[in-house]
Amino acid sequence: MNIVIASLIPVIIVLCYYTYKSNQYEVDTARYIAKVLAAGLFICFTVIFEGLCTTPEMSHVAYGLYFAGTDWLMYHLMRFLIVYIGKDPDIYMNKVVWWIIFGWDSVYICSNVYHRLAFDVVETAFNGLTIFKFEAGRYFFVHMIPIYGLILASIVLLLYKTVKEPGIFRKKYYPFLILIVAIVLCNAYCMFFGTSLDISVYGYAFGAICLHYFALIFIPKELVGRTLALASDNSVEGLIIFSSSQCIYTNKSVRTMLGMETEDALRESTVLMEDFDLQHLDQYDDITYTKTFVLNDVKVYLKIFFKRIEDEKQRYLGSFFSIMDMTEEIATLERERFQATHDELTGLFNREYFYTRAEQMIREKSDTEFLLLCSDIARFKLVNDLFGQYTGDVILKRIADALRAHCGRDTVYGRLGDDHFALLLPKERFQEEYFLHLSEELTRIDNEAEFPLVTHVGVYEVTNRSMPVSAMCDRADMAIMTVKGEFTNRIAYYNEGMRQAVLREQAMLGELDGALENEELTIYLQPQVDANRRILGAEALVRWVHPGKGVIPPADFISVFEKNGVIAKMDIHIWRLACRLLRKWQDAGETERYISVNISPNDFFFFDIFDQFTSLVREYGINPSKLRLELTETAAMGDPEKLTCLIDRLHEAGFVVEMDDFGSGYSSLNLLKDMNVDVIKMDMRFLEKTDHLKRSETILEFMINLSKKLGVEVVCEGVETEEQVSFLRSVGCEVFQGYFYSEPVSVQAFEALVEQ
Ligand code: C2E
Ligand code: CA
Ligand code: CA
Repeated sequence: MNIVIASLIPVIIVLCYYTYKSNQYEVDTARYIAKVLAAGLFICFTVIFEGLCTTPEMSHVAYGLYFAGTDWLMYHLMRFLIVYIGKDPDIYMNKVVWWIIFGWDSVYICSNVYHRLAFDVVETAFNGLTIFKFEAGRYFFVHMIPIYGLILASIVLLLYKTVKEPGIFRKKYYPFLILIVAIVLCNAYCMFFGTSLDISVYGYAFGAICLHYFALIFIPKELVGRTLALASDNSVEGLIIFSSSQCIYTNKSVRTMLGMETEDALRESTVLMEDFDLQHLDQYDDITYTKTFVLNDVKVYLKIFFKRIEDEKQRYLGSFFSIMDMTEEIATLERERFQATHDELTGLFNREYFYTRAEQMIREKSDTEFLLLCSDIARFKLVNDLFGQYTGDVILKRIADALRAHCGRDTVYGRLGDDHFALLLPKERFQEEYFLHLSEELTRIDNEAEFPLVTHVGVYEVTNRSMPVSAMCDRADMAIMTVKGEFTNRIAYYNEGMRQAVLREQAMLGELDGALENEELTIYLQPQVDANRRILGAEALVRWVHPGKGVIPPADFISVFEKNGVIAKMDIHIWRLACRLLRKWQDAGETERYISVNISPNDFFFFDIFDQFTSLVREYGINPSKLRLELTETAAMGDPEKLTCLIDRLHEAGFVVEMDDFGSGYSSLNLLKDMNVDVIKMDMRFLEKTDHLKRSETILEFMINLSKKLGVEVVCEGVETEEQVSFLRSVGCEVFQGYFYSEPVSVQAFEALVEQ
């Protein structure tokens, strides 16, 4: 019997060791394994107890405990398997039910000594010793049913999993399937055919090792390894792993990246061999670097990361390369950089980048004298409106192509936006005629000779090299401003006076709002008289009574306001002053005298003129016929039909409409035909002293006659001398305005004049 005990001691030690080890793992499975092993340990002790029995009664108890042990072994094994396949044992194996079943069976089998229903023991001799051999009783099956039920269930479960699971997971179940079947077969053989000693108990030691090894070590590690390999095959990052000097792994990405068919091809891949001796990787330190190479005629950008693998004592074990293909990122980066620095339509430098490059050029070529040119196409917005965006784009691209073709490496050029181009070029290379000719050629709309585009060029000579290029462009633009609207003068050279003028204009614009509020902008009145010098009315002319600069004439600010789109603000203010005055006169009983106000052609862009004036006369409660409206011929340039219609509506509303500066435009007679104006004011220039006095007088006479025939009243402006008056009277003019009678005077002075 000592042999039995002796032979079981290693088994017990193994079981103890693995029970203890399993308990140290922090995974769930390990806890269940520990329980299975503890049950196995218990069974081993019962087997020893069996061997030590000296009476049949003791043997009954020993066998009883042994069978009870198998109950709980199976119970825990089943629970382990459920956890192992990833399910919750409390759901799939009701604890209470199985505790009742196995608890009852344990009591039943352990109390066999009293009822002897399950088994019996027979005294036999074995190797000269007396042992008690087990013999199954009539009701032994009662104990066997739950046990074999569970065994069957576990085998079915494992079989099912081995069939169902994908390849790499099957391995998880084979060892346990084999183990259970082997132990059961062995146990059944011992029980029913073999010796009294259950040799399957020895299998427990083996089983414990297997259980521990497969459930906790080998399979998890293998799974991790295989899953990592799969994951790394799917990763975009390339991976090459060397164990000492041998390549043990390459993933799919790196093989595609380096154009290798198989893992072996790494030896032929020169990409790494250029930088590393692959046989002696242990001599390199960790490094990250980028590299380009050509694969199938395509330039590939790689980011290579080399890292040593060392054990805890810094002994070299191997190394790995992690490689990223940066080709696309770099291409995107370059594309983005291009987009950020270039104009989309023309591909030229954009504004910011032009500044940067021009500044660089000025800095680098310190001996070269430079000119900065800016160009502007007059009425370019109209091109888009009239001929479509496509035509506009074609012109811009043509300019860009020409710049590319004509400019050398010593020139920087770009598109600053819209139709503005700029270039910085050495002074010696600049030829005015050439540039003018080129700009004319380029800005021609095909098949549209009737819409000539004019390009204005502003030139700034780079005298102050440290000035920001943006400021140089502003100066070139200032030069353009001085020739804007001119057709013959298309190039202008910046000078300091231009800047002063612009600064003055800016100051004026800045002061406008305050001036309106403080009524610094006010009206002067210039009388209009009849042949008997009786004052019929007056023209309201704006004056800026500046607190510092005195009375500023409109010539100094009207064009500035018009250019900057604020003239309407000023005009409405003046019209209100005129209305207020008319109201004052009306309240004083003076209902005959009228005031003419000027309407700038620009006002048409800002207001509905009709709405403005009708609501003004309503607001001030004045007679519309006393507020005369002076339009100029240029107002009709935009849309003559619309103007005709407006004049008709103003008439209907009771206003008197005057055509100012008549004869100064190009199509005056035409206008007279179409526009139903009440008054024309002859352009002052007809009265100016000239060598062709006779011709002027003839024209005046003709036009006055014509107007009278058309029923239009004529006002002659700019009357300065007695002779002029008598001439005008002789040709039938009835209303006069000019210095001969009075200069424009303040309202107070005008009222005093009327009193006389
Ligand atoms: P305009 O409408 O042709 O006004 C007549 C200009 O001729 C006035 O100049 C007036 O002072 C001047 N003038 C009058 N009689 C004589 C004369 O006998 N000899 C000479 N040489 N000149 C004479 P002013 O006041 O300097 O106005 C200049 C221009 O400014 C005006 O020309 C008009 O176009 C514009 N303007 C004046 N006030 C306003 C206004 O309130 N709004 C707008 N939009 N423009 C205005
Ligand atoms: Ca006028
Ligand atoms: Ca006038």
